[in-house]
Amino acid sequence: MIEVNSLSKRYGDKLAVDSLTFTVRPGVVTGFLGPNGAGKSTTMRMIMGLDRPTSGSVTVNGRPHAQHVAPLHEIGALLEAKSIHPGRSAYHHLRALAASNGIGAERVLEVIDLVGLSEVARKRAGAFSLGMGQRLGIATALLGDPKVVILDEPVNGLDPEGVLWIRNLLKGLAAQGRTVLVSSHLMSEMAVTAEDLIVIGRGRLLSAGRIGEFIARSSSRRVRVRSPQVARLRELLLADGATVSGIEPDVIDVEGLDAPKIGERAADAGVVLHELVPEEASLEEAFMRITKDSVEYHGGSGASFAAKGGVRR
Ligand code: ADP
Repeated sequence: MIEVNSLSKRYGDKLAVDSLTFTVRPGVVTGFLGPNGAGKSTTMRMIMGLDRPTSGSVTVNGRPHAQHVAPLHEIGALLEAKSIHPGRSAYHHLRALAASNGIGAERVLEVIDLVGLSEVARKRAGAFSLGMGQRLGIATALLGDPKVVILDEPVNGLDPEGVLWIRNLLKGLAAQGRTVLVSSHLMSEMAVTAEDLIVIGRGRLLSAGRIGEFIARSSSRRVRVRSPQVARLRELLLADGATVSGIEPDVIDVEGLDAPKIGERAADAGVVLHELVPEEASLEEAFMRITKDSVEYHGGSGASFAAKGGVRR
């Protein structure tokens, strides 16, 4: 469990994190979303005790990070591409970290296997691809078999197979009862990985809760209707207070009335329907809607957000 309480962080004039309060519960994957510069990395660093809050507090399993006797067993993190000595092998990197934390060599081999680096673990890490580096970072995060795992953009640089692997890994960790907090700019990936969602913008909390509720709350409810009597139907629905927009000669989009109501109105008036489709709102649409006032630089077409799609660090 991670508990963030009125957490703020100021860098000079910049309030990077502004009175954030939220809880990340165990047993599910929690997505951490926000436009570029929203304060996600800063928050994660404060959770890890790497940055000191200006005010407020954060606890991991009931204590601040610094008060844990064996922090690697409590929380593991992938915060940014780790700078590991390029001449060192993945095995030696992990072995050194394990040794200084009282973790045995067996666990090192276990995490190497878990992240799929067994075949290259003895090679120089300097020759690793970005994706292999990410896997090594994840192995590092999991080394202490921690109850809480936080990962900042873990799918950066991974191929589709790697992305799927991360998805299953995160769900597996959550299913074991761990607390999993993960930031990502890939909405489609978050939509299928996370159960809970924390959304921030300009350092402030915009939403916290179940992903389904977030989508339902933050998106429009549109129903697409196809009918050979579209003009008649439009009149009926407008009279009922709905908003109607024409799409094709026989298709309209309706907002303000749900599909059952539209179907009933049509039946009452003897209007034939060929299609009645409630539109599935996407996480991306909901996210854009809720964060549109929080994006730091709009750059024409949401460029600051899109920029994150590349290799950020
Ligand atoms: P995110 O991870 O959501 O992209 P960050 O936490 O990296 O956002 O950054 C939040 C804000 O704080 C940004 O405006 C960033 O420029 C600023 N910031 C982050 N770290 C520092 C720092 N060490 N010094 C000054 N400003 C910083």
